[in-house]
Amino acid sequence: MAKLVGGIEAGGTKFVCLVGSSPDDIRAEIRFPTTHPQETLTKAVQFFKEQEEKLGEKIEAIGVACFGPIDLNPSSPTYGYITTTPKPGWAHTPVVKPLHQMLGVPVAFDHDVVVAGIGEGKWGAAQGLKDFIYLTIGTGIGGGVIISGKPVHGLVHPEIGHIRIPHDLQKDPFPGACPYHGDCFEGLASGPAIEKRWGKPGHQLPVEHPAWEIEAEYLSLAVYNLILTLSPEMVILGGGVMQQLQLFPRIRQRVLALLNQYIQSPAILENIDSYIVPPSLGNRSGGLGAIAIAQQIIE
Ligand code: ADP
Ligand code: ZN
Repeated sequence: MAKLVGGIEAGGTKFVCLVGSSPDDIRAEIRFPTTHPQETLTKAVQFFKEQEEKLGEKIEAIGVACFGPIDLNPSSPTYGYITTTPKPGWAHTPVVKPLHQMLGVPVAFDHDVVVAGIGEGKWGAAQGLKDFIYLTIGTGIGGGVIISGKPVHGLVHPEIGHIRIPHDLQKDPFPGACPYHGDCFEGLASGPAIEKRWGKPGHQLPVEHPAWEIEAEYLSLAVYNLILTLSPEMVILGGGVMQQLQLFPRIRQRVLALLNQYIQSPAILENIDSYIVPPSLGNRSGGLGAIAIAQQIIE
């Protein structure tokens, strides 16, 4: 029997808390805005305590899919902290420690995007795969890398949103929107980049708008680089911008063209439609991933 645990998707704008053991066994869910850290974390704790009482069952661990940057180094004194975020009130804020103290159970902690990837690997699109990538194209661009079934942290953690991709200024004179790098991947292709370039948010641009050709080009270039770098078995593309489903066929075609038959794998050459895919858990990848990492630490 899978154990009953709590999952928190701790986002910069909202928190989503789930109690359950799998997608078919979600006992309760709550969403609330991210306000002051203490207030927000206390609200999450209260929810879990109330649910334990209501269900008459113990929540055995908590998993947190957290917005970043975060400290994931277990030997660091600030392990489990949100570190240098510009989000008011949240810089240098402990997350793991207060949850552990208030709930008295183990707390698993990782980056929101890679946890969403773990959710997709356990119950979603990437079930059974060991090496895959989850990219989210939203307010920012984030990338989770799972290799041999484990999230890659490395020195700090991968920051795929800030890689550089070719930017043809003649085709796209927009200088880019990243405050650090200007026209990095996120600076060119995030939701806010689309909005700045065209003066309207993506959901207001029609399917045939030239915005989507440019967007598909940047996403294809990034995916091409990642395929060549990491040799993933699947690339999952999620986040608000990918609700523009017309992007998927364009990206698949363009990635095939860019690769130009160089990678001789049927997964790409014959099955590109199931190689570059949307998340299958929808907006629950992060919360379910948090449940998965909570279960992992008590296995
Ligand atoms: P976040 O990244 O903040 O967690 P989302 O993944 O929903 O949240 O991303 C929000 C961004 O995605 C915004 O910039 C928004 O303009 C864009 N977006 C949301 N929905 C759509 C849509 N249907 N089409 C295009 N862009 C969208
Ligand atoms: Zn950048």
